[in-house]
Amino acid sequence: MLLHIGLDDTDSPEGGCTTYVAALLAESLLAMGAEFTDYPTLLRLNPNTPWKTRGNASVCLRLNLDEARQGEAKKAALELVDRYGEFWCDNTNPGVVYHVGEVPPEVKEFSDRTVKQIVSLLEAEAIIEGHGMAAVGWKNRRGIIGALAAVGGTLEGDHTYEVLTYRTPENWGRGRRVDAESVRGMDRALGDVTFNNVDEEGRPLIAPHGPDPVLYGVRGETAEAVYRAFTMVEALEPVERWMIYRSNQGTDAHFGAPVKVRELRPFNPAVVEARVISIPETLHGGHVIFKVSDGSEEVDCAAYEPTGGFRHIVWALIPGDLLRIYGGVRETEGGVTLNIEKLEVLDIADDVEYMNPRCPACGGSTESMGQGQGYRCKKCGHRDRGLVKVPISKPRDLKPGVYLPDRDAHRHLTKPLERYGREKKHTPSPMIEGWIGFPARSP
Ligand SMILES: [Zn+2]
Repeated sequence: MLLHIGLDDTDSPEGGCTTYVAALLAESLLAMGAEFTDYPTLLRLNPNTPWKTRGNASVCLRLNLDEARQGEAKKAALELVDRYGEFWCDNTNPGVVYHVGEVPPEVKEFSDRTVKQIVSLLEAEAIIEGHGMAAVGWKNRRGIIGALAAVGGTLEGDHTYEVLTYRTPENWGRGRRVDAESVRGMDRALGDVTFNNVDEEGRPLIAPHGPDPVLYGVRGETAEAVYRAFTMVEALEPVERWMIYRSNQGTDAHFGAPVKVRELRPFNPAVVEARVISIPETLHGGHVIFKVSDGSEEVDCAAYEPTGGFRHIVWALIPGDLLRIYGGVRETEGGVTLNIEKLEVLDIADDVEYMNPRCPACGGSTESMGQGQGYRCKKCGHRDRGLVKVPISKPRDLKPGVYLPDRDAHRHLTKPLERYGREKKHTPSPMIEGWIGFPARSP
């Protein structure tokens, strides 16, 4: 019987990781004779949710298991959450959802909304009840939302993969040791089928910096690609286990169709098409802010400490430029601000400067004889009351196209430039042999 186990919100800023709980659970389930029907789902939820912990990731395991052993499987999940959940943290409210059979369309639709906006626990509980699913929530039970979203996150459209490797517990909280040169070598070899391995200067980006048990993760287009990357990256400390996930990371799944500026709501990701109406201003701390309008209303757009090339793109904007802006809506005093995650320059305004006319007699430069009084040639003295300033178009240091901040500032869901044109439309081929590894099952 097909069983889906969704998990969410076991981690805190001080440690833990829902994916690690899922990797331990997968080991237990395999020992019970489970046959996985898909890679574990790693679903990133709305990144603008105010109560998220770190990356806002939820996980679902999908497997065939004897009906007689399903009770044991459910119990294993609860025990692992009890053991590894960071319950002391106010913002950690774990949830586990079980579903037997095919995933109903309503659950898929709920999952999509959980990635794109704010959804309520009441909605989640109504769906769980309506479909006879089982759910367990700890504390304020909010994790049930993400756990249900993970169950519904079947990723039938675009998706990516990530191999996550985990550290042995004695190293948790210590500096991570991964050979940087091996990461650069892997990126050179697999740069077309993996992404965000190194930053613009070649520094590895695959290892997180927090206290969680992840040693490093490599993201890519196929399970084969991330597995090959795993064999090429040299860990300088023990890898306790690894697991390959299928994910909505790097797919822009949080962005829907463009909305009007007047329709922007706090905490939602949003896309708007609007024209710049103010010169970008750099604020204390390096943030750049400018106003846009689409006729329905105007809104401030903010680029937070934009680095590298992106900074220059934002600075190069002038009133009249037409943009498609991808960002997160933040509540501010007296309204909302759109925090820019990605910019598409659609149309570039003329940057016109009005200059004194040239002398019609000799071509020399002229000076004004006063407001509305015409111009006098500085070279030959020719006077002409009919002369007016002439518009000169200045070259623009900006081209139409898609612009992203540097890779280390990307959100998990942000689609990197190298993925454009690689969007998938189908679920994947059968799982590869090396999708999981743990101490009792070495490679
Ligand atoms: Zn002249």
